[in-house]
Amino acid sequence: MSTPRICKRCSQPIHGRYLSALDAVWHPEHFCCAVCNRPITDAQFYLHNEQPCHPICYTDNIAPRCTICNEPLTGNHHVNYWGERFCVDHVRELATCAYCGRLTPHATKRTRRRSVEDICCDICTSTSIDSVPQAKLLMDGLINWVEAQGLRFRQKTFRIEILDRADFLERDGGRRDPLGLTSSKRYLRNRRVESAEVESVAILRGLPSTLFEGVCVHELGHVWLVQNSVINLPAIDEEGFCELISHRHFLSVGSKADLFYAERIAKNSDPIYGDGFRKLKRLEERVGLEQIIKSLLRKKKLPL
Ligand SMILES: [Zn+2]
Ligand SMILES: [Zn+2]
Ligand SMILES: [Zn+2]
Ligand SMILES: [Zn+2]
Ligand SMILES: [Zn+2]
Repeated sequence: MSTPRICKRCSQPIHGRYLSALDAVWHPEHFCCAVCNRPITDAQFYLHNEQPCHPICYTDNIAPRCTICNEPLTGNHHVNYWGERFCVDHVRELATCAYCGRLTPHATKRTRRRSVEDICCDICTSTSIDSVPQAKLLMDGLINWVEAQGLRFRQKTFRIEILDRADFLERDGGRRDPLGLTSSKRYLRNRRVESAEVESVAILRGLPSTLFEGVCVHELGHVWLVQNSVINLPAIDEEGFCELISHRHFLSVGSKADLFYAERIAKNSDPIYGDGFRKLKRLEERVGLEQIIKSLLRKKKLPL
């Protein structure tokens, strides 16, 4: 006589009908759904953590939900940098946040406005820096951080402004970055800039705080250069240097959002900002930041 089959669930011998699944045998009433605990009678079931479930129980209780429409995701779907999952269709329908790249449920591609930067998701909006007092609160800490990297300022007080896009774009007489603007008075001699003085640092209104900090650190790079009369660098060197400091700040804070912006600097395809950053990064890896700073102070240019 052969040994009776043993049910995987109750460890008792099976005498009548049995069910064979997942490399084991079961009393039919003992092959149960991990969610509702009722027997699975259908040939079709889902596995979750190696536990069988009714397809409907899986869909309703376990399947991840779309961040946008909250429908269960059982088939093909997208996952973004932030770990959010969503239906494939939304990528076609919805615009992405200009800052973090998340899909924005309230902005469809049809309503996309003239300027891409106008589209800001709720998460970025929730930390946005909209006023000078807010900006000042963060700026002091950033100045200290930049000084700790070896960039000593001659003057730590200068005007801080938060500008709307229109004012921002109108402003002239400074080094203009897409999101920040350092204005300086330049003194000429023999038609060459001989010295300069920082007048103000302006940041675009509404940046999410993480990005705001990175942009400030970049502008503080310009401030430091101006204050130390490093005023005739080629744009690629100057922007590359400021991006290097900003990138360093993102890495040192190191939150998921910081690393997102660090990667955006590293992968920027812009021939001034992106190529400048990569040039400075290679230089930093070769000679170190300290040598770069020394050379800028003494020779007013990058080390060879
Ligand atoms: Zn059993
Ligand atoms: Zn079930
Ligand atoms: Zn969806
Ligand atoms: Zn966003
Ligand atoms: Zn710049």
